[in-house]
This record gives sequence, C-alpha cells and structure tokens, in this order.
Amino acid sequence: DALLIVAIGLGLLHFGFPLAYYCYLKKLWLNKPWDVRSDPEYKPRVSIIVPTYNEAKLVRQKLDDIASQDYPKNLVEIIVVDSASTDGTLEVVKEWIADHRDVKAKLIEENARRGKAHALNKTLKVAMGEVVIITDVDSAWPSRDTLASALSWFSDPLVGAVTCLKVPTRGGFIGVERGYRDLYNVVRLCESKRFSTPVFHGELAAFRRDLLVKLGGFPVDIGADDSHTATLIAISGFRAIAVDNALCTELVPREGYHMWRIRRAQHLIQHFAKALGLLSKAPRGFKPVLLAEAWLLLVATTILLYKALTGTATATILLAAGTALLLFKPYRTWIATQAYLVTATIRNLWTKE
Ligand code: GDP
Ligand code: MN
Repeated sequence: DALLIVAIGLGLLHFGFPLAYYCYLKKLWLNKPWDVRSDPEYKPRVSIIVPTYNEAKLVRQKLDDIASQDYPKNLVEIIVVDSASTDGTLEVVKEWIADHRDVKAKLIEENARRGKAHALNKTLKVAMGEVVIITDVDSAWPSRDTLASALSWFSDPLVGAVTCLKVPTRGGFIGVERGYRDLYNVVRLCESKRFSTPVFHGELAAFRRDLLVKLGGFPVDIGADDSHTATLIAISGFRAIAVDNALCTELVPREGYHMWRIRRAQHLIQHFAKALGLLSKAPRGFKPVLLAEAWLLLVATTILLYKALTGTATATILLAAGTALLLFKPYRTWIATQAYLVTATIRNLWTKE
C-alpha cells in the first residue's frame, strides 16, 4: 500500500534524522576538548544590558544577581533599557541605582514600546564595553563566576559570541522543560565544539561589540534576535558558542506556559527560515540544525489515522504503538515540542510577536 509506505517513510525521517544528528554529535563531539582558548585571567570591559518591559516584580532581584558577580566592578557597566513600562519598573530601577553607588549602572528610558531589539539597538550606541551582554530579567546567573566564565572565552580572538547553557526552574511543566533542556544542552554544546550553535539564550548572550556594530545591531523583525545575530556572526567566520562553564537559570512561567512555548517556537522558526536562506554564505562546518521537521510527523499521523479508520490493521497498530510510547518522558517531551512547532508555524502566519 503506497500511502502507508509514505506515512512510514515520513515517520522514519522525522524521528530518524534528529536522532541520528543527536547521536552523531554526542558520540563525536561531547567529550572532545575545546579547540578555542578560554583564559580565566582575561577580564575585558563589559556592558551588561538588561531590557525591561513591565518587570517591576523581578528586576530588583535581577540587578542584585548581576551586582553579586565576582568581577572587577570598574570593568562592568549595567544598562537597563526600559520601553515605557506601566507597572512601576522605572521607580524600582531608579531606586536600585541610587542604592548602589558602587556599581556603574544607568537607565535608558524609551518613551514608547517598539520591541526588545529596538531598545537594545538604541542602547548599543552608549554601551562602552568590549563585550556586550544581553540578559533577560526572567533569568538568573546562579554562580558568582558565571560572568567571568562566559567572558573568559573572548580571550580567543576567533570567538565572536558566547551564550550559556540553561537550567529551567520553577513554573508548571518543569519535568517536560528539564527533559527538553537535557536534550538540547547536549546538542548546543556539541555544535559549539564543532563550530558554532545557531541558538542563543536570552539568559546570557554575549557579543563582541565591534561585531554587533558592524552588523548594524540586532534585527528588529525576528523574535529570536540574539540567535539570529549569533548566527550572522558565525556565518562571517567567528565562533558563536554555548559554553559548559556558564549555566543560567531560566524562570519558566507559572502561567501561560503553552503560549510561552508557542511564542518561543515562532521566534525560532522565523530565525531559521531567514538563516537557511543565508546558508550558501556560511563557512564550511556551519550547517545549522535542520528544524525538527514537525510537519513530517503531522502528515504521517494524518495518513495513519485515515488508514486506521478505513480498516488498515498496520496503521492501527502503528498509531497504538505511538500512543503507548507517550508513557516515556523523552518521547512525550519530543511530541510536545512538535506540537508547539506546528502551532507556531500556523500562528506565524498572522502574528510575529
Ligand atoms: P521571552 O523570553 O522571549 O518570552 O521574552 P520576555 O517577555 O521574557 O522578554 C525578554 C526580556 O526582554 C525581558 O527582560 C523583558 O522585560 C524584555 N522586553 C520585552 N519586550 C521589551 C520591549 O519592548 N522593550 C524593552 N526594553 N524590553 C523588552
Ligand atoms: Mn523570558
């Protein structure tokens, strides 16, 4: 039966390709030593940019967290850039700055909200660090060495951008999030050892300032602006790496988890769609991860459903087996991710927010 064979073929492709990629990366790269230098004594001047929009509840903790990093204070400037928050964020930030005279910190106020990337670009004009770090308010650097560790990689002139690995905390669905992270931290790390990773994290995204300036700042039309910028840097021949000595905590939202995952997926899809168009310009060794081709699974499942309903026993058995596998967490995590990707693809048709 040709249709059934198509369905099975698509299914094998869907599960086979990412699995093969994961196994290849893990086996060949996970335990390899880095081929870039990281000098713990290297202490560049750094601008830490914290974009805020209605973050009154979290921003104080975030600034405390940054200020408690073990790094020479005279080499750090913190710049909070706010885009017309309406919840009192500005007051909290001003108070924090006034209370911390020993920290170089300033606030930039936009008078309207035009998006995170727009705010970052405005801030870039006044950021003086050799390295610029973007860090979202809903994240934390759990170790006092996170900043120094991330910066140490810039001692290698070939390194253009550095991001952290992620540890999810709190929130709903924490089990699913952890499963997802365990998988992708390995992927990002291995890609980085091999050459560069196309996915950066808002918890800590560090860039050489001169490269950012050369690119004209962050793209304002792509939700995953940090990932896209890192990818452009990698395409121009520098390394854009996720490093295993900088772990960041991501605060998984307690409410609106599904919408959060869908928006994330939308942003990644926007980024990959644009990045794939640039692939011909990429240096050898930088082949972006193929998108988990969620639609393959969707088509395969649809065919199997149709076949099962029209009395094909094999299709029924395959569907039953697929459903039974949901008992296993890694598989469940995978399927959930595919569902977010499909939903995100559809939602991208009418909103890029
Ligand atoms: P997500 O992590 O992609 O879901 O995005 P978030 O809503 O957590 O936003 C990431 C960071 O950017 C947070 O620190 C937000 O406060 C901040 N942010 C979001 N939108 C804007 C904006 O329009 N302007 C500024 N300045 N910051 C923003
Ligand atoms: Mn966030």
